[in-house]
Amino acid sequence: MIKIHNLGFPRIGAQRELKFALERYWRGEDSLDALAHTARSLRQRHWLAQKAAGLDWVPVGDFASYDHVLNTLFLLGALPTRFGIDPARATQADPFILARGSATQPAMEMTKWFDSNYHYLVPEFDRHTTFAVQPRWLLEPLAEARALGVAAKPVLLGPLSLLWLGKSKDGSDRLALLPALLDAYASLLATLKAEGVSWVQIDEPVLGLDLPANWLAAYAPAYARLSPLAPQLLLATYFASVADRRALIHALPVAGVHLDAVRAPQQVVSLVADWPADRVLSLGVIDGRNIWRADLNALLAQLAPLAAQLGERLWLAPSCSLLHVPVDLAQESELDPEVKPWLAFAVQKLNELKLLAKGLNQGRESIANELAACRHAIDSRRHSPRVVNPLVRQRLAAIQRGDDQRHSAYPQRAQAQQAWLRLPLLPTTTIGSFPQTSDIRNARAAWRAGQLDTDAYQHAMQAEITLAVRKQEALGLDVLVHGEAERNDMVEYFGEQLDGFVFTRYGWVQSYGSRCVKPPILFGDVSRPQPMTVAWSVYAQSLTDRPMKGMLTGPVTVLQWSFVRDDQPRADTCRQLALAIRDEVLDLENAGIRVIQIDEPAFREGLPLRHADWAHYLDWAAHSFRLSAAGVDDATQIHTHMCYSEFHDILPAIAAMDADVITIETSRSDMELLDAFAEFDYPNAIGPGVYDIHSPRIPSVNEMTLLLHKALAVIPAQRLWVNPDCGLKTRNWAETEAALENMLTATRQVRAGLTETV
Ligand code: GLN
Ligand code: ZN
Repeated sequence: MIKIHNLGFPRIGAQRELKFALERYWRGEDSLDALAHTARSLRQRHWLAQKAAGLDWVPVGDFASYDHVLNTLFLLGALPTRFGIDPARATQADPFILARGSATQPAMEMTKWFDSNYHYLVPEFDRHTTFAVQPRWLLEPLAEARALGVAAKPVLLGPLSLLWLGKSKDGSDRLALLPALLDAYASLLATLKAEGVSWVQIDEPVLGLDLPANWLAAYAPAYARLSPLAPQLLLATYFASVADRRALIHALPVAGVHLDAVRAPQQVVSLVADWPADRVLSLGVIDGRNIWRADLNALLAQLAPLAAQLGERLWLAPSCSLLHVPVDLAQESELDPEVKPWLAFAVQKLNELKLLAKGLNQGRESIANELAACRHAIDSRRHSPRVVNPLVRQRLAAIQRGDDQRHSAYPQRAQAQQAWLRLPLLPTTTIGSFPQTSDIRNARAAWRAGQLDTDAYQHAMQAEITLAVRKQEALGLDVLVHGEAERNDMVEYFGEQLDGFVFTRYGWVQSYGSRCVKPPILFGDVSRPQPMTVAWSVYAQSLTDRPMKGMLTGPVTVLQWSFVRDDQPRADTCRQLALAIRDEVLDLENAGIRVIQIDEPAFREGLPLRHADWAHYLDWAAHSFRLSAAGVDDATQIHTHMCYSEFHDILPAIAAMDADVITIETSRSDMELLDAFAEFDYPNAIGPGVYDIHSPRIPSVNEMTLLLHKALAVIPAQRLWVNPDCGLKTRNWAETEAALENMLTATRQVRAGLTETV
């Protein structure tokens, strides 16, 4: 009898109940009790759903009101001391202080959870960090789950992953904290054992990363210390293969290991060949990172021999926590009826597990109907004429060497562009969006609801564009933008106009805290039936003599921020997106828009987890970008934009994108990034953001002058642009105008100094 379990369930709620409860609490409209009530009822509902799916073990402790890494810090009593919170007295309100900052302390830093779009709070360590376990953070939900008759399996982030994912604030070696941290885990695990817990899932996802040898060597002794005191430990790895750590994995003194068989199916064969006797093998066979329905027939065939070999020691699960997928497909009453049966959200994925267990334990006949339905859905997806578009395939096959190259090299292009642009030194521009006011959002909502007709909506947006153009002219910016008033979201806006996408109504996934994203579903070959942005840009250009920059989202970013089809390599899907965007670029150019920005804010986050895989990704990602851009004339200027700093290690790839101008986020790090440009001679023009748009603060002329001088030390004046560090849609007009005014004053001052010396 094989078993089934889950690694974690989405906590935001099918209707984003947690989000709304959090925001009510933060606004002071609801009490902490009211928030706690919502959180408790979500946990209970989720446990009952998992129990109903027949799981042998249900995760407990995976829920967090803000973030599970932050919760782990409360559980271990490892709070950054700067907040002055005593872990022993901490309340449910305290995690929000760390996550969102207080009057005197900035919030803890947040960063991406591996290569997902979920963000965790980065633990802060220093040589004085101490631990003081507060088991109630886990015992309370455990008691709640047990009261519902749920077979609870507490989930903990493992000690080495916790340390690795944190940052040392004083430069001390965080591995030196391991002995004290292990004492804390030992005490916690002993408490759980005394509570009668039989299994604990201990997540060590960093085992799939490039880890230094001393960290790897710490694993066996760490688990040798914990195991004797603990309930049975199921050590969970996910998101990457651990096959190259076979000896380590096999030698770990744990009762079970979980492997991600979706991301890294090859590792299963090589690791299972000599799987230690008595050890449980948990296989993550249901994709926890994507929304496609599993092929149960194929899985049963693959798993049958393993089930025979391992029997009770074979557990099946999603590949990772279901945190990364929406809750329930059943709510999607408006979803394209052909595509809907191809999908599975968290609730459906649990049902897939249930069917797999039944099929393996009681024979395929016991689920004959379900298997037939599954086969039907899988076949329908595989053979749907909407998935494959022969014209797109032909175009892709016909791509020639050189199609991703501009006609001339950057120096000639720059001359051809300057010949008509006649820009001053240090040209000024913005990143694209201007304030998305409530008027704009209300107009769009009314239009979508059918209360405002399309003509009236267009007029309203044109009025916004006019306003943005007039304001930019008054400020004296050199290259203008239309302001993106008509866009809800930089990926959804394009996805909605491309073939190959569908959209959900409630397909929300937590990004951080109460913030959720609703990724489009990219299910088929991508093409662009008609121009997407040309009319807006042409309208904007008609209002002014200054150059108007066309604004597009790049192929890598659309790919990265969507749920992407899994039936072909991501690189191929990306090239299809690139060709669709290339069409738009050429239409813009034909319509007289000869400065075009192709945003790639997600370029860096697509990087694979293991360094060895970087080169391949960077190669196809830069190729896709170039493919989207390279059709234009030399005199057409291509911009790109990226946020979230830390480009040091990929500068050659960014140079390989060959945009004429790149604008990047640097101001938050005080232009630290510029050091990288001092070492690597970036060949084209660059606009390092001179102020941080994420803060309502108005930057002074003086600080921007200083930053510009810093930039001039490493970037020649002829190739330096001046701009904010990201789009301005989250700011209001007053802040925006005041900040840009100062930016332009700073630019004029620095320019004046330059003309004297140049
Ligand atoms: N053009 C987009 C904007 O200005 C870019 C957004 C982004 O970088 N995330 O909003
Ligand atoms: Zn940005």
